[in-house]
Amino acid sequence: MRFQGKTVVISGAARGQGAAEARAFAAEGATVVLGDVLDGEGREVAAAIGAAASYHHLDVTSEESWRELVRQLERIDVLVNNAGVVSFASVADVEPDEFRRVLEVNVVGTLLGMKTAAPSLRRSERGAIVNISSISGLKGAAESAAYVASKWAVRGLTKAAAVDFAADGIRVNSVHPGVIETPMVLTPGRSRDEILERHLPRLLVRRLGTADDVVPIVLFLASDEAAYVTGAEFVVDGGWTVR
Ligand code: NAD
Repeated sequence: MRFQGKTVVISGAARGQGAAEARAFAAEGATVVLGDVLDGEGREVAAAIGAAASYHHLDVTSEESWRELVRQLERIDVLVNNAGVVSFASVADVEPDEFRRVLEVNVVGTLLGMKTAAPSLRRSERGAIVNISSISGLKGAAESAAYVASKWAVRGLTKAAAVDFAADGIRVNSVHPGVIETPMVLTPGRSRDEILERHLPRLLVRRLGTADDVVPIVLFLASDEAAYVTGAEFVVDGGWTVR
């Protein structure tokens, strides 16, 4: 029960990794606050968790939306900036508006979360922020100009925040998942087998990842067990980036 008495805010928690993290934090005693733009799914996830969870509409690109959420909370001890969108187009082909949209959600969304929650995290005295980047924040990738740029920015912003918030006792780390089976990857028309076959030559652990593979790393970084860990990068990719 590492999070007994703590309040954890998770963006993009209506499904996928964010929902799995919400369930896991609650199972370890946390009060969890789920934010997303998918209100129906988000409410269902919160209801299934029970009294420890509440769902709030949150568009991470809107400062007012973040402010409204934070205003409603007595305390915040942990912030997980998990909301994200993917987009597939090369540097040559990406539309500038699409590039801006991805940066707006993945980067500006992460910045606004940290900025808005900072006063509450400061009061917590043991505040922790976990930013979800990607292996696309560690290397390049084909046809992913906006996503790669955004996830490198999340990694960089994490370092900047670790330095800026150090004096406030707030730790800030980034997590870099590989290919994880969530609605982001399992889109209509792309079968699990096709995706696995494409990535298998790279994977040392010969399967796709699941949200439950990422959850323990996020919880560790958010917990006091990671008291001496800040500004660091944690890769959860089945060995994808090793070779
Ligand atoms: P997902 O698409 O299931 O979940 C992303 C969630 O973010 C969704 O619920 C979506 O509604 C929410 N979201 C999108 N825009 C938002 C906004 N403006 N405001 C609030 N919420 C918004 O995918 P996932 O795999 O669970 O993704 C979680 C995080 O992990 C993302 O940051 C993603 O980039 C990252 N990631 C995913 C993979 C993967 O293979 N699935 C790999 C590396 C990193």
